[in-house]
Amino acid sequence: MSERKSDRVSASRSATESRGETFYPGPSRTPLGAYPPRERWDDWVELDAKAWPKRVERHCMLVPTTCFNCESACGLLAYVDRETLEIRKFEGNPEHPGSRGRNCAKGPATLNQVNDPDRILYPLKRAGRRGENRWQRVSWDEAMADIASRIRKAIVEKRPNDVMYHVGRPGEDGYTERVLAAWGVDGHNSHTNICSSSGRAGYQLWMGYDRPSPDHANADLILLISAHLESGHYFNPHAQRVMDGKARGAKLVVLDVRLSNTATHADHWLAPWPGSEPAILLAIANWLIQEERYDREFVRRYWNWQEYLEAERPGEPASFEAFEKALKRLYAEYSFAFAERESGVSAAVVQEVARLVAEAGPRLSTHNWRSAAAGNLGGWQVSRTLFLLNALMGAIAVPGGVFPNAWNKFVPKPIHTPPHPQEWNELTWPQEYPLAMNEMSFLLPHLLKDGRGRLEVYFSRVYNPVWTNPDGLSWIEAISDESKVGLHVALTPTWSESAYFADYVLPVGVGSERHDLHSYETHDAQWIGFRQPVLKEARERLGQKIADTREVNPGEVWEENELWIDLSWRIDPDGELGIRKHFESKREPGTKLTVDEYYAFIFENSVPGLPEQARSFGLTPLEYMRRYGAFEVSRQVGAQYTAAVPEAELVDVKRTASGRAYARSEKPASPNLVPVPSPDPDADGRRPVGIEVDGTVVRGFPTPSGRLEFYSSTLRAWGWPEHALPGYIRSHVHPQSLEPGEVPLIPTFRLPVQIHTRSANAKWLDEIAHTNPLWIHPTHAAELGVATGDLVRVLTRIGYFVVKAWVTEGIRPGVVACSHHMGRWKLEGPGQRQMMPTVSLRHEGTLWDLRRERGVEPFASADPDTSRIWWTDAGVHQNLTFPVQPDPISGMHCWHQAVRVKRAEPGDRPGDVSVDTAKSREAYVEWLARTRPAERYSPDGTRRPYWLLRPLKPGREAYRLPAARERS
Ligand code: SF4
Repeated sequence: MSERKSDRVSASRSATESRGETFYPGPSRTPLGAYPPRERWDDWVELDAKAWPKRVERHCMLVPTTCFNCESACGLLAYVDRETLEIRKFEGNPEHPGSRGRNCAKGPATLNQVNDPDRILYPLKRAGRRGENRWQRVSWDEAMADIASRIRKAIVEKRPNDVMYHVGRPGEDGYTERVLAAWGVDGHNSHTNICSSSGRAGYQLWMGYDRPSPDHANADLILLISAHLESGHYFNPHAQRVMDGKARGAKLVVLDVRLSNTATHADHWLAPWPGSEPAILLAIANWLIQEERYDREFVRRYWNWQEYLEAERPGEPASFEAFEKALKRLYAEYSFAFAERESGVSAAVVQEVARLVAEAGPRLSTHNWRSAAAGNLGGWQVSRTLFLLNALMGAIAVPGGVFPNAWNKFVPKPIHTPPHPQEWNELTWPQEYPLAMNEMSFLLPHLLKDGRGRLEVYFSRVYNPVWTNPDGLSWIEAISDESKVGLHVALTPTWSESAYFADYVLPVGVGSERHDLHSYETHDAQWIGFRQPVLKEARERLGQKIADTREVNPGEVWEENELWIDLSWRIDPDGELGIRKHFESKREPGTKLTVDEYYAFIFENSVPGLPEQARSFGLTPLEYMRRYGAFEVSRQVGAQYTAAVPEAELVDVKRTASGRAYARSEKPASPNLVPVPSPDPDADGRRPVGIEVDGTVVRGFPTPSGRLEFYSSTLRAWGWPEHALPGYIRSHVHPQSLEPGEVPLIPTFRLPVQIHTRSANAKWLDEIAHTNPLWIHPTHAAELGVATGDLVRVLTRIGYFVVKAWVTEGIRPGVVACSHHMGRWKLEGPGQRQMMPTVSLRHEGTLWDLRRERGVEPFASADPDTSRIWWTDAGVHQNLTFPVQPDPISGMHCWHQAVRVKRAEPGDRPGDVSVDTAKSREAYVEWLARTRPAERYSPDGTRRPYWLLRPLKPGREAYRLPAARERS
């Protein structure tokens, strides 16, 4: 550094102290004295570490972007060398309200991804069979023309749903959904049903919003069913706020079958039998109810208890007192002793946690995302029973409680808003799963094999279905078959197992090479974060004009924003299909929309406060976001559900018996930062505007009743009356369901420094974590005669994998666990050599074998570090051996597996996998039989309750089942 650290610190201090502040003068509001003050971001001077011991100064431009390595979207600052225009490093952006200048290891490792010698730099077209891993370079023009013509043909021939876009990490708020809507395609497919659907379902059933926003920093008790401190949801932004809460004196309780890093920080670590979490949560709820330690007024005002009484206890008085009596009876069976029997956690410990919940009162922050909800049949009851505690304590949208996500998130209106498609896609929303939270994405191979449709063009985008989904070999069978998938286009920044089965592999950018806009619920505030191609911004600050990100990115790496605009123009070159208009400039009608105009429009027109903030810096809103990368729209949004509905909206109001208020007014007159609930209108066409509470109409929640739904009339109406209340569903790995010798395998946990598929191209991360051994308790290991490092076979219903054992007391006895963040592999030929061993993949009929031919090895490249690779292991791809196990209600894949563990056999090698996809098919059919399909159970002839969220929401007519359409 040209300045000693103390100089830097004092420079920064002077910037803050001149404002009378003791922290970095940005929205992070945190003591970040060592951060470069923003006044000097244009020319920040540091010493060149590589030139040591010489003292060589490097002048850098600090250009903000956001990390693309998980969903948190933390702010990054790229240090761009002014002389060489190379990115020297990434550090945190102190202007970012969510991450507040902090990152996990994966943020700075973005630099590895930029410089990865094995990255895909040019468009590739397959030169052999799918899966042969032979490629030829093609021009973007050739690839785009071919893809566009096929999509156009499908649209013109009225087969719009033959086009599918399957996304892994979106990293943006709705850009691509709007592209699909403009094409009239109901082809959005997400990864959510292998990720968070069950967690979401529990929240949505309660409040109409599918995600929680816990205020950990102000809580007295933080109750987590997740590994938040190392890998949970909104990992870094939440982890730092959990620590803020602990620093304030909050207690931390963690439910986790294994000793996660988070559990090591807990006051109470509870390691329940997998899937028994609701038994514990219900025992706590029951104690609060029986002891009357809950917030009675909150329950009286905001729960839909009246609806419950009317529907389920029509003979009883419709009074709150009657409801309270019923509540006591409903939950009386869930004693602490019951919780102990189900979970194995001592009743005394559960009782102690219940006492902490009662003492925390409304300062109770809780969170469940993947974890137990993602592992178990009925996992959606985990988040539902967890939120029951918040709903009992009134710990909702108050300091230290849990907010609905939409109130702590801001999604601005874009320049064009195309209507949603009018078609229903049976390949993503099959009628057997009318209540699925998200697309039944992981069933796609089976739905294709059923003959339910065909794909003309299938985009996998930053998504690796073969590796990430269960039953990956069925995926290979399906996407290798050109009669099922006409063209597979892999949009990816790096090699993936699925890309080997593509027709085109198109290189898209990493976090510093693309534009995206996003906002996440990290705390009680609303912010937007702006990802941008940092070298474009750096060059433009130096006066260069950049028309296309391919001019600044490595090779011909292209950002997707530009790609989608270009592709849409090619699909509809003269505008006759009505598509092109959604990708045209407003400033210069008839010309192509630029990415600059797209974001300038949003920042100028759709983000309250941003134009004024920019003006105070002498910048346009776009310039401001390019300079600082984030903007805080509002803070302390508070309890929107208690907001009184303005008189102007209350035109011709009609109220239901349970207090739902409907009015004839149009949309709310006053601009509202918070999305307004819009369930169905009443029979006379009035719009739901709120709920009546003690004589005042307040906003309430976007549920059918407008209240917090303790009782789900939706579940009852759609054939699941036994689950209409928060309750306990015994998991498919409950002891009663296991055969002798079987144990549950927990495959759902992450490693803090890896990122599913994309981290294989980050050498720093690979060196830290490159294996996923099987966690096994010493007592279990002794029974098997296994020691740490020994190879074991783990047998699932459809096959087996071979893995090293790690004997540890950090796992509950009788349960084994293996992280899903490992086990990458490559075929002979191109691939990510630092983390993908070379395998052979063979099959005879439905019997598949994946054998490791060579481990990871050092290799020569432009990066000398690749010749220093010392590890050979890369873990095992366990997901290949898992059958699909869709929850019949939420649609979530139930990840936990009933397995047998035995010593490896002679010839077994680490990473070996063997699977029979005929058995996968049997499992699919068996789990499908558990559903209650819309055709039989729909109460109104529709495919799905209209009020439930859906990423692309077709028109009402498309919701009607074919039989109902025919009848009319
Ligand atoms: S938590 Fe880590 S990986 Fe995720 S966005 Fe933040 S820095 Fe990136």
